[in-house]
Amino acid sequence: MKFDFYRVISFIVVMFILVSSQLHANQRTQLKASKVDVSVRLIHMNDEIHRQPLQSYKQLLAIKSQFVDMPTEQQLWWLLRKAQAENLLYFYQEFNQTVAQANALIEPDTPLKIKSSLSIFQGLIYRRDAQYIDATRIFRQAMLHAKEGELTYLYILAKQELAYTQSLTEMFESSLKDMQEAYLEAYVLKDHFLIAIINETYGAIYGYMKDYQKSIEYYQKALNTYENLAYPGHVAEAVYGLAATYRYWKKYDLAINYFELYQKKIYYTPNTDISFYSAYGLGMTLAEKGECLRAIEVMDKALSLHGMIDYDAELYKQRTHCFIVLGEHEQAKLSLGKAEKIFLGLPELMGTQWQLEIIELAAELAHVNNNDSKAFQLLKEYSRKHTQLLLKQSSHKLASARVAMEVDRKHIEQALVKQQNKVNRLEGESLDIQERNSFYFMILMACISIVVITVIAVQYRNNKKMYALSIKDPLSTLYNRRYVFEYLSTYLKGVSIEKTELSVILLDIDDFKAVNDQYGHPVGDDVIKKIAAIAQEVFRSEDVIGRIGGEEFLCVLPRTDTDQCEAIAKRFLRKVSNQIFLATPSLRITVSIGIASLSQRSPDCDSLYLHADKALYQAKHNGKNNIVIY
Ligand code: GH3
Ligand code: MG
Ligand code: MG
Repeated sequence: MKFDFYRVISFIVVMFILVSSQLHANQRTQLKASKVDVSVRLIHMNDEIHRQPLQSYKQLLAIKSQFVDMPTEQQLWWLLRKAQAENLLYFYQEFNQTVAQANALIEPDTPLKIKSSLSIFQGLIYRRDAQYIDATRIFRQAMLHAKEGELTYLYILAKQELAYTQSLTEMFESSLKDMQEAYLEAYVLKDHFLIAIINETYGAIYGYMKDYQKSIEYYQKALNTYENLAYPGHVAEAVYGLAATYRYWKKYDLAINYFELYQKKIYYTPNTDISFYSAYGLGMTLAEKGECLRAIEVMDKALSLHGMIDYDAELYKQRTHCFIVLGEHEQAKLSLGKAEKIFLGLPELMGTQWQLEIIELAAELAHVNNNDSKAFQLLKEYSRKHTQLLLKQSSHKLASARVAMEVDRKHIEQALVKQQNKVNRLEGESLDIQERNSFYFMILMACISIVVITVIAVQYRNNKKMYALSIKDPLSTLYNRRYVFEYLSTYLKGVSIEKTELSVILLDIDDFKAVNDQYGHPVGDDVIKKIAAIAQEVFRSEDVIGRIGGEEFLCVLPRTDTDQCEAIAKRFLRKVSNQIFLATPSLRITVSIGIASLSQRSPDCDSLYLHADKALYQAKHNGKNNIVIY
């Protein structure tokens, strides 16, 4: 019994711990669960699009039919996500259309997040068309929207796009300043993707500034992050950046390797136009390496694909150079004319190194055409403009600002890493404390449960014991007088006398006084115990037997008529008279029995007892050791 009790307790404790930990776990999973609604899904698609642009694009197209029924805000989100995927897949034509469609839906109360994102996309379109002034304006607008909406991520993104655009028009000073700010803000935001984008842009800017070592370092950092994030479009872009930088650095073999790697990295998009960039890079590199024949072939392939207009200008310039080298002066002239024409359509590129190279090439062409005076004039013009440009680019102010910014960035980066470590440590510690506290809390709860359960169980056992004691006669271990009479009257309450059978037996030990006198009280007590034991043996389990006086017993026999009762009484009488209570000196005992059964004459507890007592009296009168039925 004791064993079971402790088993129950341990079971309860184990269950308690299991249930609490389950509750804890449920709470955590509940936090993770999110609603799957089209709007919410569109808003949260960012990472998915970066990871799998083509699959995401297809999913977006799959719900195109729902577009007309969408509320405007949802339509805008759909268009934004579609544009995002198209941009990554180099579907520029579709991208331009999607952005235009989205722009048409913009209203004054359109959420700032949408407005800002859309402005960034519009800026990319302007920049690709070499409309740098418009691009700058719209990136600034994106920054304003982001600032107003406290959208730090978009603010930084727009700012670095602005900085990159400035670098394309060789405004390196303001470009680097904005980049520096964007970099620090991204670092504070702890956004690895943003940091990688900024590193990539740094790579590009340093490349334009001819600091190739730095450019490679930044591109490499960006590439590592993109690979960790598994963003294929960005990986390809960073690889392209590395290839281009090696090309500018005149490390042609490395450049060719990276252009070839780029060709492999663009597998994720079905767009074939994208091979323009690898053909462009490869052709330019081969030309610069001096392999003009092969270079022209590859460059012509690039020109047949649809690249960006300023890239085409570069190709025509490089072709001009190659044709000069190969002595094909007419072809060279034609090619240079095409390059010149492109620059005329891009006024924002006037005066940049890219445009100045046209003058240099024209001089070269004049020279090979034996027009040295023209060549001289052109070279003079080139030299003057180039010197101006160099002065602008390598001003002392810019150089020192660059160095200072690099140093600053390193310091701040270190400080931020330190701070981050500290925060991580503190977070770890507080998590430990939380876990420990919840563990202690569970232990406490378990202990309290054990104590409460133990108290309840002990109380219950005591009550049971008390009750058992209160209804039992300690000497005979039979029921006591109060219980038997209570049982009988309760049993009879509400029963129909005609339908119910019940008998009572009242029995009294014969000449018990003499037993006490002759053998002593202890022997008398033993006799009482033995009589009780015989009664428990002879009577049935449902019969209720009680000691109601010194050596007087009342037995209630439910569902027993007079005859059955008499048979049981006889068996008892016989058993007692056959029992040897004491061997030496020999002691035998007899009992007298009075029986009364439930009837109209004896309809209740009092009458049954009274009549059984009368019968018992009669039995004594008849000479004892016999049974009388009332
Ligand atoms: P009868 O055959 O007429 O019943 O004669 P009797 O001697 O049994 O007479 P009575 O019923 O008057 O005597 C009962 C005696 O039982 C009186 C008392 O001393 C004794 N007695 C009562 N309770 C106990 C007890 O708990 N232990 C012992 N040993 N004797 C008891
Ligand atoms: Mg007696
Ligand atoms: Mg008596």
